[in-house]
Amino acid sequence: MSVTSQPRVDTLIDNALCPDGRAARILVNAEGQVIDIVTPESNVTAGTVHDVEGRLVIPAMADPHAHVDKALTADVAPNATGDLRGAIDAWIAAETAGLFTHDDMVDRIRRSLRQSLMAGCLSVRSHLNIGGRVGITHIEAALAAASDFRELMDIQFVAMSHNPSIGPGSEHNVEAINGAIAAGVEVIGGCPHLEPDPAAAVAAALDRAEATGRPVDLHTDETLDARVLTLELLAAETARRGLGGRVAASHCVSLGMCDTATQQRVADATAAAGVAVVALPQTNLYLQGRDTPTATPRGLTAVHALRAAGVTVAAGADNVQDPFNLVGRNDPLETAALMVMAGHLLPADAFACVSAAARRTMGLPAAGPARGAVADLVALPSATVRAAVADAPVDRMVFRRGRLVADTRITRTAVI
Ligand SMILES: [Zn+2]
Repeated sequence: MSVTSQPRVDTLIDNALCPDGRAARILVNAEGQVIDIVTPESNVTAGTVHDVEGRLVIPAMADPHAHVDKALTADVAPNATGDLRGAIDAWIAAETAGLFTHDDMVDRIRRSLRQSLMAGCLSVRSHLNIGGRVGITHIEAALAAASDFRELMDIQFVAMSHNPSIGPGSEHNVEAINGAIAAGVEVIGGCPHLEPDPAAAVAAALDRAEATGRPVDLHTDETLDARVLTLELLAAETARRGLGGRVAASHCVSLGMCDTATQQRVADATAAAGVAVVALPQTNLYLQGRDTPTATPRGLTAVHALRAAGVTVAAGADNVQDPFNLVGRNDPLETAALMVMAGHLLPADAFACVSAAARRTMGLPAAGPARGAVADLVALPSATVRAAVADAPVDRMVFRRGRLVADTRITRTAVI
């Protein structure tokens, strides 16, 4: 910790509590980068001063896997049975009834992004349905909704096509994929495990990634059937093409059902290939295991085996208050708590899943109260990162590149 004053300080975040327990002043330059963290006694002159009044300052969070086109539809598309069949029926009924208009979708996506912003989640990667009946209308709505948020958040949209994306019957979906790319979607997506030929679908997604210079993020599987190891196909193909660092595998639930030797083999291949894995505890705990009433398995990938092998393991919220998951609040601290309770991670590691690891998965530079990091920060009234994950306080000050962009203060009283 330096005690010298800094000449290039644009913003001073004062009275901060750092995750390591030190009281500090955080110095941010005009480019929105943390240039130093100094003691409270240090003499600093800055253009703007934000007093966070002793709050804990942590990295702004990131959600590497959302579905903002579906978000916040739980009441307009009610899932009568609460399960996957009910979700699909509810979605199709509402879509057929014309409830998902462009204006409605723009409004919901804006509300969803605003929830993320207020929660201190400044980086969101969202998959969007394309093809089938919807063409690229969801992409058009999402791009319109996101336009006002681009300065405030890192937003990446993933073109997730209906099946099939290759072979007979795929013409309309391929047209949508090409349309989404032309419209500016940032990431190539898809659901290869639902395709007639998963290996060919994985290869086709990576072909598109190479041809367009875009990263890939695939719904690799969402099943408790341990035989469905699309992740292994993706790892092999990624390694063969040398695309490590640009490929993410989402869900990967089946790996959690495999024996330990298989988990280790697949985890080693995934690490060697440089494929990141995104766990989605919220929706997969909600949807999977419903047909196993006794000793119900957890719908979660093999978090420990993957981490032990050196795989970047991130975690996201996935579905938020839609027919596929009736709860959720676009708060990565909720996801982190689930990674503690259902994934058995230590709180600091669970928090990394929704911050540093999520940013790596999205190809973003490090953020947080550290010299040289992006000054995307959240100040909240907790003493430690563990307490922040446990409390998930609503009270949050959110800084984007050092600029205060959301501020929620809560007053609570009780007679005792
Ligand atoms: Zn998903």
